[in-house]
Amino acid sequence: MKMFAFHCGGEKTLRSVFDPFDQDCGATIHVPYFFYLIQHPDGNVLFDSGAHPALLDDPRSRLGDAADLYEIVMSPGDDVRSRLDSLGVDPEDIGHVVQSHLHYDHAGGLEFVQGATVYVQREELTFAYWPPVYQRDVYVRQDFDTVSRWKQLRGEHDIFNDGRLVIFPTPGHTPGHQSMLVRLESEAYILAGDAVYDKEKMQARCLPGLLWSPDAIIESWEKIEEMQRRYNARLIVTHDLHWQDTIKLGPQEWYE
Ligand SMILES: [Zn+2]
Repeated sequence: MKMFAFHCGGEKTLRSVFDPFDQDCGATIHVPYFFYLIQHPDGNVLFDSGAHPALLDDPRSRLGDAADLYEIVMSPGDDVRSRLDSLGVDPEDIGHVVQSHLHYDHAGGLEFVQGATVYVQREELTFAYWPPVYQRDVYVRQDFDTVSRWKQLRGEHDIFNDGRLVIFPTPGHTPGHQSMLVRLESEAYILAGDAVYDKEKMQARCLPGLLWSPDAIIESWEKIEEMQRRYNARLIVTHDLHWQDTIKLGPQEWYE
């Protein structure tokens, strides 16, 4: 089994998104986007699918007026098709996509992997189609309207029934947020999506600015820490500001 982490652009935003009480909360941070490919003997699995390539030239076409709120920084090639192509993987060979949640910076590639079964927690779909006003701008219906094969989960799910790829709910950022335990030969990892923005902030129990439920995210952090202890797993968070030092970047490098 191999796992690839693909960087696919990012955006500039305020540090307050990570922690509204940070002393430096008005500072600009450059947040990366990522998705991951796991090559399992029984099939290719994506964890998230990056942002839609139209955000590169015409973010308004996807985000509407909310495009003014984000400063998206994408270059040609920062999308799921291009990144898979860099590894010689055809999007048609992706059978499974696990979506941590359906925000635009995670679900924009779904349109390009239409042969795949898409795994979400049931609560996420309802929330994504009818979001409350405070998350209205982070869901783009076009991203997930193209999906024909949903697998709606209620709780944990072991994709290939071998304990290698286990999805588990980590609500808080959104009601249906989920993470995935990836047990490779040499080491275990937890792909945490946006359940955790910043590991130190999690340890200090500092709540992020973009949040559905503080109580749920605290419980999810406890769950993630328990999984880390149980499997001696390392944590990979999508918007890791230190990614250039911490992440093995595909396709040149990988985890196995
Ligand atoms: Zn995100």
